[in-house]
Amino acid sequence: RVKQHRRGSYGFFSPEISDQLMAQRALADDIRRGLAAGEFFVEYQPRFDTRERTIRSVEALVRWSHPQRGRISPAEFIPVAERCGLIGALGGWVLRTACAAAAAWPGIGVSVNVSPIQFRDDGLLGVVAEALAAAGLAPERLEIEITEGVLLEDAERARRLLDGLKGLGVRLAMDDFGTGYSSLIYLHNFPFDVIKIDRQFVADIEHRQSGRAVVQAILSLGRALGLSVTAEGVETIGQLAALTIDQCSEVQGFLLAKPMPGGHIAALLAQAGAAPDGGEATRGDEP
Ligand code: C2E
Ligand code: MG
Ligand code: MG
Ligand code: MG
Repeated sequence: RVKQHRRGSYGFFSPEISDQLMAQRALADDIRRGLAAGEFFVEYQPRFDTRERTIRSVEALVRWSHPQRGRISPAEFIPVAERCGLIGALGGWVLRTACAAAAAWPGIGVSVNVSPIQFRDDGLLGVVAEALAAAGLAPERLEIEITEGVLLEDAERARRLLDGLKGLGVRLAMDDFGTGYSSLIYLHNFPFDVIKIDRQFVADIEHRQSGRAVVQAILSLGRALGLSVTAEGVETIGQLAALTIDQCSEVQGFLLAKPMPGGHIAALLAQAGAAPDGGEATRGDEP
């Protein structure tokens, strides 16, 4: 009976599409509820300096502990939050949470993923400024990670916002570099500080003959443009060795550390001996 009604209400949509729409709508309601109920939390994945072998910064990654379903991947709920107008609320909360957490750690930076949808709103600048002020975090300790999708939509507005963010003093990283369109054009036309090499390329270092050459090309591009380069998804010693020899400035991946609760970061910093000299070492400057 319910099914009949469902099909009817979407008219010409196939049952599969109707079901998907219903599921998305249900998930959107659930996200709203989960936000109010405090079911979301943030984990932090360390990013290591390959030369100093210290933790320079951590990447904030949002998590959802659903009361019935358990952990749901951000790869599932972020796109729904984006489509349903909830990414602003969720993303703002992640920013404030990550800034507050970072302010309590000695010297290291924190990097926060910002959705292209958040970039459609000029209010983002205020959200970032307020998160920094509320946490008492120095702006240079915050890095905003964006994907090139942001730049495709409306380059003029993106430039305004990126310049605004630079004006606040935060660092900018291009995430998942190489997976979208025209990365190269965007790289030198926008004020990025960091390129994050997507983990597909890192995996290819060992899986394909030409894989390492591609990574080396990105690294030399980074050097030429004065950008710091972080390799994502480092899972093997072989990958780490190649990236170190090829002078990739920073590495991040399960081999070194998985995303972890904020409480574990302070302990790890004390144990691994983070930045020997506080603030200085939060900068990802190239050699
Ligand atoms: P991303 O920003 O590229 O984040 C890196 C993802 O790779 C994370 O997945 C991380 O857990 C995973 N990862 C790290 N090291 C390894 C490794 O060695 N091997 C493998 N296989 N994976 C590794 P996660 O946490 O599931 O996040 C997936 C994506 O969801 C992120 O990709 C990002 O695009 C998005 N995301 C996560 N948190 C947020 C957020 O707060 N806001 C927004 N807008 N997007 C977020
Ligand atoms: Mg990221
Ligand atoms: Mg990435
Ligand atoms: Mg990604």
